[in-house]
Amino acid sequence: MDPISSIPTVTQREQWTVEEMVSEIYQLFSSVPHHAQTIMLELRRDQHIEFLTRGLRQLGPSFRVLDANRPWLCYWILHSIALLGESIFSDLENNSIDFLNRCQDPDGGYGGGPGQLPHLATTYAAVNALMTLGGQKALSSINRDKMRTFLLRMKDPSGGFRMHDGGEMDVRACYTAISVASVLNILDPELVENVGNYILSCQTYEGGIAGEPGSEAHGGYTFCGLATMILINESQRLDLRSLIDWVAFRQGVECGFQGRANKLVDGCYSFWQGAVFALIQRLNSIIVEQLRALDVGGSLSWRSICTGAASNLSEGECGSDVKSYQTDERFHAKQKEFSDIGLNFIKIPAELGPLFHSVALQQYILLCSQVQDGGFRDKPGKHRDYYHTCYCLSGLAVCQYSWCKDADSPPLPKAVLGPHSNLLEPIHPLFNVVLHRYYEAHNFFMGS
Ligand SMILES: [Zn+2]
Repeated sequence: MDPISSIPTVTQREQWTVEEMVSEIYQLFSSVPHHAQTIMLELRRDQHIEFLTRGLRQLGPSFRVLDANRPWLCYWILHSIALLGESIFSDLENNSIDFLNRCQDPDGGYGGGPGQLPHLATTYAAVNALMTLGGQKALSSINRDKMRTFLLRMKDPSGGFRMHDGGEMDVRACYTAISVASVLNILDPELVENVGNYILSCQTYEGGIAGEPGSEAHGGYTFCGLATMILINESQRLDLRSLIDWVAFRQGVECGFQGRANKLVDGCYSFWQGAVFALIQRLNSIIVEQLRALDVGGSLSWRSICTGAASNLSEGECGSDVKSYQTDERFHAKQKEFSDIGLNFIKIPAELGPLFHSVALQQYILLCSQVQDGGFRDKPGKHRDYYHTCYCLSGLAVCQYSWCKDADSPPLPKAVLGPHSNLLEPIHPLFNVVLHRYYEAHNFFMGS
């Protein structure tokens, strides 16, 4: 054996340690009687609600480091509670709406706390939190006109978005901007202009999508990039075949997902990677078309399909002509088309089954990420936190509904690992908001 290659790297050692810890848990699980297995797989609802509600009321001094992320804390906690099918007391609801309103910048967008610089990430978190709360007071508190001004100010002339004034441009910024614009019904050709080209430039040779051109494919950015392309009706421009190849190999021996090749398993990728599969399940017709083009043309690139798809935006609908036709009917027609994409997408029957092992992922989430006293963690040996609680629960919901053809129908019992009381609310995978709250927001903003 090559003496150099026989020396394990730090990551290899860490990987073996994680595998050992996970293996011990699975061995214990397989050695106990059936009724004890059922108890081990039970979603600890009461403990999760207790942990989440406590965080919404009061956080300890260790949370100082998250002072610029307070709308995120609202979203992670409120969305987790909504996934569990619970609601919060009206005093907490009113306090949350008032607090988020104080984070709203007079010139549009939301900062990390009252008086802080507006930022696209916290804007996305605040809008998703308000959507999750639902109702007239929460939804009408968002200043949509100022939001559009803010989003346009974040837009870079090259097409991408910057996280804040003078900030970094990346795929996450594109997703948060486009997602917010989509749910608020303010998405238009001016905001969409060249976003697709930017996302396309971030798809790597591996098939996944990186944070910015030239970087490594990553689960979070792959979700953000794919969701963005769907929301602007340009997903057919991505090489979906290689994207599926990449994401299919991210589920490891531990049954959970890793975020990048050769990295450790982490519970939060249950959503970031799991939701990529949930999106792909509704892109069957495009995938079939890309595969057919490969069959017919041999080396014919899927990019020839994308040229045709991109031509939908031709003649005054893309490039520098965009402003000249804003008063044109075509601008409004395109705006109308964008406003319906999120709703139409979830109505598409999922023709493909899940392309990952959804029951195995539930096993990892429930046995390895779940903390018995409430909350979820990255992996055994780590502490619980609200971020991982939100994305482990979101991933669990994706798994449970992954065999449903119709997003509104309940899953078959065999699709839900553990007792049936584990069943969570379904989400809209493009926005990661519980489905019925998305419908409510869509109706609300369509009429305004
Ligand atoms: Zn994580």
